[in-house]
Amino acid sequence: MDQAEKRKQLIELDKKHFIHPTSSLKHQQEHGAPFIFTEGNGVYLTDITGHRVLEAMSSLWNVNVGYGRAELAEAARDQMKKLAFTNCFSSMSNEPAIKLAAKLANLAPGHLNAVFFTSGGSEANDTAYKLARYYWKLKGKPQKTKIIARKKGYHGVNIGATSATGILSFQEMAISPAPDFLHVGPFSAAELKKLIETEGADTIAAFIAEPIQGAGGVNIASDGYFQEVRTICDRNDILFIADEVITGFGRTGKMFALEHERVVPDMMLLAKGITSGYIPLGAVVLSDAIQKELTSGTDGVLLHGYTYSGHAAACAVALKNIEIIERENLVENSRIMGAKMLEGFRNLQQEVNIVGEVRGLGLIGAMEIIHPATKLRFPVPVAPEVSKEAAKRGLMVRTVVFEGMDTIVFAPPLIIKAHEVEELLHILQQSLIAVQ
Ligand code: PLP
Repeated sequence: MDQAEKRKQLIELDKKHFIHPTSSLKHQQEHGAPFIFTEGNGVYLTDITGHRVLEAMSSLWNVNVGYGRAELAEAARDQMKKLAFTNCFSSMSNEPAIKLAAKLANLAPGHLNAVFFTSGGSEANDTAYKLARYYWKLKGKPQKTKIIARKKGYHGVNIGATSATGILSFQEMAISPAPDFLHVGPFSAAELKKLIETEGADTIAAFIAEPIQGAGGVNIASDGYFQEVRTICDRNDILFIADEVITGFGRTGKMFALEHERVVPDMMLLAKGITSGYIPLGAVVLSDAIQKELTSGTDGVLLHGYTYSGHAAACAVALKNIEIIERENLVENSRIMGAKMLEGFRNLQQEVNIVGEVRGLGLIGAMEIIHPATKLRFPVPVAPEVSKEAAKRGLMVRTVVFEGMDTIVFAPPLIIKAHEVEELLHILQQSLIAVQ
């Protein structure tokens, strides 16, 4: 069977049997999946027809060390041959989970020294909300239950994480989000302060924020915002949870994004880049104070745990992945290549008249599309057209078009080299020109 025939057959099976996550199922039924990828190498993916693309989103902001890393496959294989999995409930443990917890405690700033493992970011979020409420209950303040999150924030799809997510279409699909989740504007510390006053600090358990909002369109708060947030949380006895699921592990040019502001949260949520997507894993890194409270309260019993909390093979892959990030100075590369990418976006802003605001920090960035005459958004988003043109020419990007946005977002693997950034910019330029 030739590749074209094989592709046709796979598309039919895909349409019939595979419910794609966060997708237009109608579009999938009508057109089939446009790409069936078969191979990845560095920053490139190749599909079943042999079409190669520079993958400028690290898939879902997560393949930080790039594709085709034999070392990670070997780490998984070696651990799976020895001991793929063991229960970590009660008195049981395993070596990779212990070593990874210690490594994360070492990397995380300040008082963040204890780690609870999950299988991904949504589970890390739901864990954090439960632990925040439980912490206050143990401290004799069971009425502190509310979680304040930010508009346009994205925290995942479990019921708690959906309820914290500030993108309305996700909330609407959940029909009835969990109670006690509130939202504030993403950039105003004054608005947060006002909401706390209105609701009463003694009813609020935690404030959660992504240091840079990813799925919401790469929205970056102004300098000093998170320092103000930290102060407001401290003054009101509110835990500050940083969702570093996208921004962790070098994405912004620091190991963790809040380091740019020298702010230490009470809990830090990790997933995605922790294994560069080679195997599912997430983590909640807790402060010493929270660990102490959890350990001392109610006989120190924690009735919260996933089958896969502390999965041995996943933890072994994470350890190797972090070793690669450190050995290859990928945090520094993110900073340098990110600056180059942003400079390229600024040049495109001068050259192509549909490019509006551009922004970025390290290897995460965004470009707004605007009407050249009005400088406002087009009535129908144009970013998806740019994305289609880019894919044809060999570049994968993502678009954000909810709530009237018309934005292209970027998060290439942290291994990207200067000539690959130039290739990204060149294809982007050609694609913008093709639709302008
Ligand atoms: N938090 C943030 C900031 C995310 O971007 C995501 C996923 O995109 C999540 C949480 C949810 O993670 P997962 O999809 O691994 O459940």
